[in-house]
Amino acid sequence: MIPVQGVTGKDVAVLGLGRSGLTAARALQAGGARAICWDDNPAAREAASAEGFELRDLNRASALEGIAYLVTSPGIAHLYPVANGIIAAALDAGIPVDNDIGLFFRSLAVSEWQRFDTPPRVIAVTGSNGKSTTSALLHHVFVSAGRPCQLAGNIGRGVLDLEPPEDGAVIVLELSSYQTELARALTPDIAVFTNLSPDHLDRHGGMGGYFAAKRRLFAEGGPDRAIIGVDEAEGRFLAGQLSEGPEDDRVIRVSVTRKPAGPGWQVAARKGFLTEYRKGRQTGSIDLRPFSGLPGVHNHQNACAAYAAARAMGLGPRQIADAFESFAGLPHRSQLVAEAAGVRFVNDSKATNVDSASKALGAFKNIRWICGGLQKEGGLDALAEASQSVRKAYVIGREAASFAMQLSVETEVCGTMEAAVSRAIADAEPGDTVLLAPAAASFDQYDNFEQRGEAFIKAVKDSLGS
Ligand code: ADP
Repeated sequence: MIPVQGVTGKDVAVLGLGRSGLTAARALQAGGARAICWDDNPAAREAASAEGFELRDLNRASALEGIAYLVTSPGIAHLYPVANGIIAAALDAGIPVDNDIGLFFRSLAVSEWQRFDTPPRVIAVTGSNGKSTTSALLHHVFVSAGRPCQLAGNIGRGVLDLEPPEDGAVIVLELSSYQTELARALTPDIAVFTNLSPDHLDRHGGMGGYFAAKRRLFAEGGPDRAIIGVDEAEGRFLAGQLSEGPEDDRVIRVSVTRKPAGPGWQVAARKGFLTEYRKGRQTGSIDLRPFSGLPGVHNHQNACAAYAAARAMGLGPRQIADAFESFAGLPHRSQLVAEAAGVRFVNDSKATNVDSASKALGAFKNIRWICGGLQKEGGLDALAEASQSVRKAYVIGREAASFAMQLSVETEVCGTMEAAVSRAIADAEPGDTVLLAPAAASFDQYDNFEQRGEAFIKAVKDSLGS
C-alpha cells in the first residue's frame, strides 16, 4: 500500500466504496487521516464497516463540516451530465475534491528514494481505446526485461494498493478520462496517449471536454516524454502543443497510417512492420505479424505506443521484440477462444464503442459478427466502412431490432447471446470467424463486458460440445 501523505490528523470523506474507494480509505488511514466513508449502496457500506471504517451519510446537511478533502470514485459524475449531490455540496463549501490517482501522485515519492540508484518511474497510459492492452503489454515488456514492474489504475488494481516501489522499479498506470479529469496531481514521468474517438461524451459535456480531460495528463506535470498517437487531429494538436519543433524528441509520435517523415522521434507500423525513426534515421524495426497476442492494426498501434515507452526507458529493440512475441493478449480483446471445423471464435466483448468494434472488424476476414447491446451516443454509421469483411451480423440486446436496422450488412435479430452463437455456427463455413464485437455497452443484459464475454465463451463451448 502507498500511505497517503499530508493528511495526518485530517478528516477525509470517501464517496464510493468500490475497489478504488476502499483502497483509498485504507491508504488514507495508513497516512494518519480519519477516513469517513459513504456509498449509496448498502452492501458496499457493509463491506467498509466490516473493515472498521466509520460510515457517515454524506447526503445529510452539515455532513461535510470539518472535512478536509472529498475523495470520490470514477463511476460517480463530478460535473456532467449533473454532478452528484455530495460532490456538488463539497464544491459549494470549497472542499477540494480529488480521487485516488491524485492522492497517489502526491504520495508516491518518499525520502528513502534518495538512496536509490535509479528512482522509480511512472508511465501513465490514456486514450479512448487500447489503454489496457498497451498498459499490460508494457508491464509484460518490463517484467520480461527483468525490471521490477507493477501495473494498476483502471486495470486490475487500485493505484494506492501498489507496493511502495523498489530501486529501479517501473509503475505502469492505465488512466481513464474520468480519472485524469478529476485528479488534483498528475505527474507521470512518461505519458502515453493512444488515440481519441467519441466515448463517454455525457460525462464530459461533449468531445471537447473529453479531449480536455485526457490532455490533463500531459499538461499538469509536464512528463519527461510524451508518447502520442497522431492519427487523429487531436493527437497531432497535442503533440504540436508539447514540442518546441519537429526535432524535439521529448515527444514521440506514433502512427499506423502515416509514413515516418522529418527529424523527430517516431514509431510507426505499416503492413505489420513496426519501424522507429530518430533524427531522420531508422533506429529499430520489428515484424509484428507473427505475434498472436497482437492481431490487427489496432494492436499494432498499441505495440508502437508500448515500444516507444519502453525505448524511452532505455530498453533495446531486440528485448522489446522478444517480449512482444510472448505476450498472450488480454481476455475479451481479440481473444481466440475456440477453433472448430475451420471456424475461429474470437471474443472482443471489450469493443464497447464504435471505434473499437471497427478496429476488431478490421482485424479479421469473413466475419460472422455478433453485436448489439446498450447503444452509445453518436450512432452506428462509422461502422459501415469496417463492415466490408462481415458476412452477416447476429444482433443481441434488448433493442436488437433497432440496432440491426442501423447496420449496412445482412442482419438477423437474435436477442440473446445463445441464439446469436447458435445461428452464427449454423451459418458458418470453413475460413469464417465468429466475432463478438458489440459496438455497445453490455448493461442492458449483463453486469459488465467481462460477463458478456464469458457468456459468449460459454455459448460457444456449449454449442461445440467442448
Ligand atoms: P481500453 O482499456 O482503452 O478500453 P483495451 O485495450 O481494453 O482498451 O481495448 C478496448 C477495445 O478496443 C477492445 O475491443 C480492443 O480490441 C479495441 N482496441 C484495442 N486497441 C485499440 C486501438 N489502438 N484502437 C482502437 N481500438 C482498439
